[in-house]
Amino acid sequence: MPTHSFSATTSAETLTVMGAGLVGSLLSLFLARRGHTVDVYERRADMRLSGSVEGRSINLALSDRGWRALEEVGIGDEIRQVAIPMYRRVMHDAQGNLSYQPYGQDNQAIYSVSRAGLNRTLLGLAEADPRIRLHFNQQCLSLDPRTRQLELRDTITGQEQHTTFRRLFGTDGAFSAVRSALQKTERYNYSQSYLDYGYKELNIEPGPAGEWLLEKNALHIWPRGQYMMIALPNLDGSFNCTLFFPYEGPHSFASLQTPEQVQAFFEEVFPDVVPLMPELTDEFFRNPTGSLVTIRCFPWAFDDDVLLLGDASHAIVPFYGQGMNAGFEDCTVLNQLLEQYGDDWHRIFSEFQRQRKPNADAIADLAVYNFEEMRDRVGDPRFLLQKKIEAR
Ligand code: FAD
Repeated sequence: MPTHSFSATTSAETLTVMGAGLVGSLLSLFLARRGHTVDVYERRADMRLSGSVEGRSINLALSDRGWRALEEVGIGDEIRQVAIPMYRRVMHDAQGNLSYQPYGQDNQAIYSVSRAGLNRTLLGLAEADPRIRLHFNQQCLSLDPRTRQLELRDTITGQEQHTTFRRLFGTDGAFSAVRSALQKTERYNYSQSYLDYGYKELNIEPGPAGEWLLEKNALHIWPRGQYMMIALPNLDGSFNCTLFFPYEGPHSFASLQTPEQVQAFFEEVFPDVVPLMPELTDEFFRNPTGSLVTIRCFPWAFDDDVLLLGDASHAIVPFYGQGMNAGFEDCTVLNQLLEQYGDDWHRIFSEFQRQRKPNADAIADLAVYNFEEMRDRVGDPRFLLQKKIEAR
């Protein structure tokens, strides 16, 4: 059940959302439930039809901030059915010994959800709302925030079209085209900072009867000082693993060039998991190496015409599992401001960025810091504090 009412305090408008990822599709639901008509443009094909799982991690940790937003649009129960609670961390040492750290008390947990499954569900709900119009294969090439002109390209036909918007929400991710346009406005602050680490997705297969071969309701970590691997459970009995690994150095992507080197390395440092990864070397060379970036910018708003949310305004490294959760919280906060200030979009946009920017900066710093904790000091009692924040 929604925990928040959607009173029609604003006059209905036609709004534009750029990017139908996790944040954009959720945002469109929030806006439509306030009575607005919403045009959502998405560069990719409709993932519900193509079955493609393009992009980043296969599953994500969903925590309280994210749940709050999902509850508010009334879809918490639906998502809960496909979410796996993870009540604790299980640490695997280099000898295969296990140790445990609960995430909280009693039934407190963070939840493993499929990125594509969650995105598809949100898109399905958006499509079911007559006020939302989804436009796939439409890439934003450029826009002018002053004239509110928008240039789109159909990624199938290559055809370009110029259109105008009244109010545009940029939810087009870390490499946002909407933000690029804002960067060309006066006194715009922007920074991006990459870690010297990349990540690689790998897979732990289900058992013969579809069972989980590691503890199901846990987030697994193999901390190894300068690098680490984590694994989150999937509904089909598999686990999605992510290796966070230096680009260069003695143990790095650069040092593992052949299947034999990969196999030998994994057998030495992750011995308990190698038997569960029959596709290890194939996957290692087939799956792309992702980079890890923190992006900060300000302002997030251009007058009352353009607003950035989600990764477009605050991309963070994934070590607190809070990027999507923070983007979902953006939606909750924007919705509260819409409730509070009605038609006063200027106030809503400026209050939104005033409230959210310090929080986004804080989680960006904590996420980098938590990487050092997770890969290195995860057995340290001081770590208990971090776990409490992670579960929020
Ligand atoms: P995106 O998910 O990037 O969506 C942007 C959308 O915009 C995409 O659909 C894209 O196709 C579209 N788009 C882009 N450019 C254009 C354009 N020019 N025109 C039209 N459309 C465009 N977060 C968590 O909360 N928990 C986790 O456990 C977690 N784990 C992670 C693990 C990894 C390895 C990584 C890299 C990230 C992780 N995150 C996690 C962060 C999370 O993935 C992001 O914060 C989240 O995806 C942001 O959602 P978004 O909608 O803002 O951006």
